[in-house]
Amino acid sequence: MTTIHNLGFPRIGAKRELKFALESYWKGESSRDALKELGAQLRKRHWDNQGGLDFVPVGDFAFYDQVLDMSFTLGNLPQRVQGFHGDVLDNYFRVARGRSAQGAEDHGACCGGVAAGEMTKWFDTNYHYIVPEFTSETQFQLDASRLLAQLAEARAQGVKAKPVIVGPVTYLALGKAKDDSDKLALLPRLLPAYTQLLDTLAAQGVEWVQIDEPILVTELDAEWQHAFNTAYHQLKGCKVKLLLATYFGQLQENAYLAANLPVAGLHVDAINGRDDVQPLINLLPPHKVLSLGVINGRNIWKTDLAAVLNWLEPLAAQLGERLWVAPSCSLLHVPVDLDSEQKLDAEIKSWLAFALQKLEELRILGRALREGRDAVKTELAQNLAALTARRTSPRVNNPAVQAAVAKIDAKFGQRQNAYTQRAQKQAALLKLPAYPTTTIGSFPQTAEIRQARSQYKAGQLDDAGYKAAMQAEIARSVREQETLGLDVLVHGEAERNDMVEYFGEQLQGYAFSQFGWVQSYGSRCVKPPILFGDISRPKAMTVEWITYAQSLTKKPMKGMLTGPVTILNWSFVRDDQPRSVSCKQLALAIREEVQDLEKAGVRVIQIDEAALREGLPLRKSQWKRYLDWAVESFRITANGVKDETQIHTHMCYSEFNDIIASIADMDADVITIETSRSDMELLDAFDHFSYPNEIGPGVYDIHSPNIPAQEHIVQLMKKAAERIPAERLWVNPDCGLKTRQWSEVIPALSNMVAAAKALRAGG
Ligand code: GLN
Ligand code: ZN
Repeated sequence: MTTIHNLGFPRIGAKRELKFALESYWKGESSRDALKELGAQLRKRHWDNQGGLDFVPVGDFAFYDQVLDMSFTLGNLPQRVQGFHGDVLDNYFRVARGRSAQGAEDHGACCGGVAAGEMTKWFDTNYHYIVPEFTSETQFQLDASRLLAQLAEARAQGVKAKPVIVGPVTYLALGKAKDDSDKLALLPRLLPAYTQLLDTLAAQGVEWVQIDEPILVTELDAEWQHAFNTAYHQLKGCKVKLLLATYFGQLQENAYLAANLPVAGLHVDAINGRDDVQPLINLLPPHKVLSLGVINGRNIWKTDLAAVLNWLEPLAAQLGERLWVAPSCSLLHVPVDLDSEQKLDAEIKSWLAFALQKLEELRILGRALREGRDAVKTELAQNLAALTARRTSPRVNNPAVQAAVAKIDAKFGQRQNAYTQRAQKQAALLKLPAYPTTTIGSFPQTAEIRQARSQYKAGQLDDAGYKAAMQAEIARSVREQETLGLDVLVHGEAERNDMVEYFGEQLQGYAFSQFGWVQSYGSRCVKPPILFGDISRPKAMTVEWITYAQSLTKKPMKGMLTGPVTILNWSFVRDDQPRSVSCKQLALAIREEVQDLEKAGVRVIQIDEAALREGLPLRKSQWKRYLDWAVESFRITANGVKDETQIHTHMCYSEFNDIIASIADMDADVITIETSRSDMELLDAFDHFSYPNEIGPGVYDIHSPNIPAQEHIVQLMKKAAERIPAERLWVNPDCGLKTRQWSEVIPALSNMVAAAKALRAGG
């Protein structure tokens, strides 16, 4: 009989209860006990939600992050928080968020302030974990109390518990050796802690432990592959059965290794790697359980249950008891409950499944496999009806859009002439000084802006009132920029709450949820828009605001757009066509906007690609394919303009070494990037590549309230000029200023403009 189980459940709560409880606790507005109590309530509710499964994950709940939980379980706390006098949970938050010595929190005076742990992306998701810190001195010491307490809670509730932990090799691989020592050398010290943990769980009568090793879907050096053998041969003496869980991709060259590790079961992602499963079964020793992740844990679409059954039934016959079925990965990456959605279009809603609905799909699959499809005839018929409706819906399929994509040819991505010729024409038109100054787009989102927006949404402010309020903010931004003496102005993005949502709301083919929140890190959640159909642009989206802004000044006003790759990467995307096709549809829609801006007399247009890097596949061998269509999409968007129109792009990250050729290939006239914290060293990548076009290396960090000194900016720009010819340099901040106050923005930009003037005068 097939076993059904789950790998992990979203912890934030259907109404983001955990977020609000955390933030209230951090502000000192509620007690630690109240927070712990809410955690217990959420766990209880979520285990209830998973009723009917043969195994339910325990230990997947975390107050901040599951990797940080694992660091505490293994006793691997950074040196700077060791010896803390206060509560363990508080120490946990000190690592997660840092703490100032002056803060109102307990123990500031005796234990001092600490820096937060580094945070980075969890594989190719938008979840961020706290990076484990190592040195050659790191020792581990088991603290199983969290897991044991949750196990006891689960059992008291009658849950068939399967504890979940991060496996030792992934744990080491995701961490960082602060002293540049070899972190793999810690494995012999780490494994006894794991042995002790597994023995402790075995002593509690635990049968199965899920041990997550997603690093197995990435390219591994021989020594890391070897580490898997070392680790699992050492753990094999433990008296629990291990289900080694991999997800987010295919095992590929690691399949043999994964299949033959001495564990009782293996979970694989059968969404990303269905074709790999049969060869894997042939590799798998005959006693091993194979868990197949057949429900997509990374998107919000209903599963095609009949198609899954067609594929699974023969495997069930072949594997018998050894077959387990689950979502592809933890459901952490999808929202909780579709039923919360009151405003979502009913037709679109009928195509979707959030975590709770995905678990229901799992139960249906389980019954079909055990009792035959007849036992779930009604459910399968409903599923088929929804899928058929989606497949054939005119809201999904727009023949005009499909025809337009089919007509894309090389000319679409080609500027009329090469950069050097364009640059001359642009210089003649724009008449900018050396070291031209600009900003990245947004100005402070003030209380007035937020109030006007919420009144507008609540119907208390009409169209005209809202427009007037936004125009007043735009006028203010223009006035401030003129006074500051900036060279290329922006309208300030007052009318945008979010750089993706703003465009999604105006494009056909996008839907928005009310409660579709997904944890990004700690208490922070994002609500990705849902790209469900062929994308088209019914009317211009930004032209009115930009032309209004341009009417207030003689200086060039930058049109401000979000690029297709970024819109795609920050959305839930379609599973019925390749990402590249959705991206090209977005590219055509934004291209129309670019051309409308040009027609309206806008001479400079910026197309932000903040999330281009985020879309890189986990395996380097797949990067080129992604970069090819991502760059092509950008080019389609940007390059249908006259030579005189200056195209800017903006990317806020600081790693370009490995993608510089693709960045150059985008052929934007100007790129603005985040460089201030790297002391301009990241420009080396551009220098070594002989990057041909103009660059605006950010001269100050917009995340910090500090006001950059004029002299510091001059120094940074001089360093930049050692790498990039001065005539191709711009002066600008690292990113947009929407999270800052005007009282910070004005002195900072004033110093920036003064620095540019000093540079023009020879420094
Ligand atoms: N134009 C956007 C802004 O200024 C860019 C934001 C981003 O790159 N994340 O806010
Ligand atoms: Zn940015």
